[in-house]
Amino acid sequence: MGAIVSGSEVSEKFLTYEWTLTRTTGVKTKTSTGVTTQTCPHCGAQVNINQTAECPYCGSIITTDTFDWAIDNITALSQKTK
Ligand SMILES: [Zn+2]
Repeated sequence: MGAIVSGSEVSEKFLTYEWTLTRTTGVKTKTSTGVTTQTCPHCGAQVNINQTAECPYCGSIITTDTFDWAIDNITALSQKTK
């Protein structure tokens, strides 16, 4: 209990990444809620994609690319240990 499995207790590692996010042209974040609400393509229910990619009503995994930001690429820029 409390033993370090790997790494160091005294040094911190800092990683810098460049994330490229994409979303379909025309998709807009709602100013009222700050999230994108879309309709489930399977059952038509309103689904908050920022919370889940699974429809809470019919259980479908929503994979259409018309929803909010998606990670297009992650590039590691630097690694530094202090
Ligand atoms: Zn659904």
